[in-house]
Amino acid sequence: MPRILIVEDEADIAQALRDDLQLEGYEVEVARDGHSAVSLGTAQAWDLILLDVMLPGRDGFEVCRELRRAGAGAPIVFLTARTHEAEKVLGLDLGAADFITKPFSPRELRARIRARLRDRQRPEAEVERFGELEVDLARGEVRKGGSKLEITPLEFKLLLVFLQNRGRLLSRDRLIDLAWGRDTYVTERAVDAHIVNLRRKVGSAAITSVRGMGYRFDG
Ligand code: CA
Repeated sequence: MPRILIVEDEADIAQALRDDLQLEGYEVEVARDGHSAVSLGTAQAWDLILLDVMLPGRDGFEVCRELRRAGAGAPIVFLTARTHEAEKVLGLDLGAADFITKPFSPRELRARIRARLRDRQRPEAEVERFGELEVDLARGEVRKGGSKLEITPLEFKLLLVFLQNRGRLLSRDRLIDLAWGRDTYVTERAVDAHIVNLRRKVGSAAITSVRGMGYRFDG
């Protein structure tokens, strides 16, 4: 039974989340402030931590840093109230697995939680498939309808980054960190240009451009 720690100060939301996730069969605990979140988060093993950003005392970002410093490795899904908080989740390298903007539907939340828990269980696949595309990790090849695509090493890297982050919004900064490497100087326009090329080769439907935020791979 996966164990989920909910960090949320608003009693109504915390209670609703607890009830909903318990019904789904998860074992759930609630922490109501940053301090107890850190102590509970590090004292026990969790499969996932649902972390509200707006908390009294220490905010969710600080709690996340402390949990990571203390060695808590569970995926962290942020609950954010505003878009600028969501941008911060993307911008700061907090190691967040995902974020959900309030108000959210319980159904969406459950789906995201299932997806993040699945990520943990999935063994390393040698060939990833989506649509008629096959990404062969062992051979470093991409095939479309069985025939090999001409793809640059950088495009291959970008595609891998997208595959590893299916359904997750990636800012251009994050893409640069993951595909080019941290501290590499690349302009956002260069990122866009490479993605244009990649979309032309693999099909534009798989990679969604999210205005002002970045890209998301839905393949
Ligand atoms: Ca709150």
